[in-house]
Amino acid sequence: MLDENKAKYYIPSVAQNNEVDLIAPFSFKFAAVNVGLGWIGKNDVVITKKYGPRIRLSVILINEQFVYGNKILKSNCPENCNKCVDVCPYKALHDVQWNINSLRSDIIDYRLCNEKRSLYIKTHGRKNACGLCMVACPFGT
Ligand code: SF4
Ligand code: SF4
Repeated sequence: MLDENKAKYYIPSVAQNNEVDLIAPFSFKFAAVNVGLGWIGKNDVVITKKYGPRIRLSVILINEQFVYGNKILKSNCPENCNKCVDVCPYKALHDVQWNINSLRSDIIDYRLCNEKRSLYIKTHGRKNACGLCMVACPFGT
């Protein structure tokens, strides 16, 4: 449809292959909060009101004007919820509420999370997806 209408677009890669900076070419989380899909939870993933973190994101960057939702500026995690923080076996989550100015490192020790999940490469041939901090989230259950 985009090709037929001669729209300019770009589909960024889902995977990040940069094991030094651990930064993807384009942040799907940045896109999600800026179009109002959800906020970043204390587990550093996108949380939607309806499905919680139980979503898969895809992104197509299109060089056209669109109507989209309002940018979300702060977390909607309940103040007293620590379920994701408590379940992490490596204590990689900092128990910090996200806002639009937060840095990833404010919320998660992402190097520690990656290091521990990478230990599985030797035996499983890939990183452990882990995801315990997503399963623990009450949104979307
Ligand atoms: S994915 Fe696993 S190791 Fe990483 S922060 Fe979540 S619970 Fe902790
Ligand atoms: S478990 Fe609680 S604190 Fe963690 S992301 Fe879900 S709602 Fe937020």
